Amino acid sequence: MADCLFCKMLTGAIKPDVVYENEHVLAFRDINPQAPVHVLIIPKKHIATINDLSDDDTLLAGDLFIATKAVATLTGIADSGYRTVMNCNADAGQSVFHIHLHVLGGRHLAWPPG
Ligand code: 5GP
Ligand code: ZN
Repeated sequence: MADCLFCKMLTGAIKPDVVYENEHVLAFRDINPQAPVHVLIIPKKHIATINDLSDDDTLLAGDLFIATKAVATLTGIADSGYRTVMNCNADAGQSVFHIHLHVLGGRHLAWPPG
């Protein structure tokens, strides 16, 4: 998608601070971190929202969580703990319409979220 910010990171047109990458996903630091560790994990396939996932995306959805383990280990928050969040549409505040899993850690995270 030519006009998608996160697709531009996949093509290299924009160069994020990459933490982890494999065949299926790219993980990079959020530009406006909400915790000492705030990483976004995106699939290498453009999918706008969770609502747009199809049955063919089962492995892709799992890849995001498998990559989370690597990101947590690489950023040193696997044992202290962390939260994963994927916002969908307006009420959740989704602002980039290429699905991404937020990985937040490095401090205590309150619950419930705002
Ligand atoms: P959403 O609100 O859609 O769940 O999350 C989008 C996230 O993308 C936000 O946390 C925002 O800070 C992050 N973001 C927006 N623009 C950029 C950018 O250009 N680079 C990086 N690394 N993160 C971005
Ligand atoms: Zn995209």
